[in-house]
Amino acid sequence: MTAARPGVSDLHIHIQPWRDLKPEVAAAMRRGKEDHWQRLLALMDDPKALLEVLDEGGIWRVGLVNYPSPDVMGFDDSTNEFAARYAAAAPERLLPYGGVHPRFTTDPEGQVEHLLELGIRCLKIHPPHQVYPANAYTMGLDALGRIYRRCEERGMPVLIHTGTSIFPGARCKFGHPMEIDDVAIDFPDLQIVMAHGGRPLWMDEAFFVLRRHRNVMLELSGIPPLKLLEYFPRLEEIGDRVVWGTDWPSPGVKNLRQNLDQFLSLPLPDELKDRITRHTPLALIPRR
Ligand SMILES: [Zn+2]
Repeated sequence: MTAARPGVSDLHIHIQPWRDLKPEVAAAMRRGKEDHWQRLLALMDDPKALLEVLDEGGIWRVGLVNYPSPDVMGFDDSTNEFAARYAAAAPERLLPYGGVHPRFTTDPEGQVEHLLELGIRCLKIHPPHQVYPANAYTMGLDALGRIYRRCEERGMPVLIHTGTSIFPGARCKFGHPMEIDDVAIDFPDLQIVMAHGGRPLWMDEAFFVLRRHRNVMLELSGIPPLKLLEYFPRLEEIGDRVVWGTDWPSPGVKNLRQNLDQFLSLPLPDELKDRITRHTPLALIPRR
């Protein structure tokens, strides 16, 4: 089957088991969206309601970012089952992501295999929320290297958070993009997706790593679209390795459509906009 004109993929939204959040983290999440907080909570149990949001926003598919972070955020390993169960409502449009926590796992390879059995499409690594640098396997955190290796062998993309985090307890210093330099060298066949391009502090570092390594992609969520070309003025140089994402409903991202429209209004070639929002995401996470 050909996908001559696939729809837009937003590879980074947050539908997570919010009821598991620590109270102070939930308060930070709720700030600024008090008026529709109940609706957001309801979405957690209602994939059909999310599909309506996607239809309203003109979005075909979304990546549902989930990862364990029991000590900082409150999510345990059951977040993976949550993502898989939720996505089962519309497997073509809802792409479940999951994670294995290298500081807590006793069976890294077995847990990556379990994610694959669940149908998880991408493994999320969140250094500030999981409290280690993305290259911590070079400093003794063996489980992290074993997770990367197994993902590399199994063709599972890895999405790595870069940049700061507003949540209480997050260790922002672990958001440096430069740590991905090691990962790209040591796991040359791993598909590495750099979320947020180091925003708002480390875009130069991010761009260096992106230009240097063909196996690293930039995922645009969390970057205000109207600031994208200020943050990455030479975006076109890495244009074949950029994918669309919003980080909805994180603070500052009100609406899927508004972000997309702002991106589409940028002075970039239409062909490139199509590649970023439609074709490259589909190549990274194909239909199945
Ligand atoms: Zn995010």
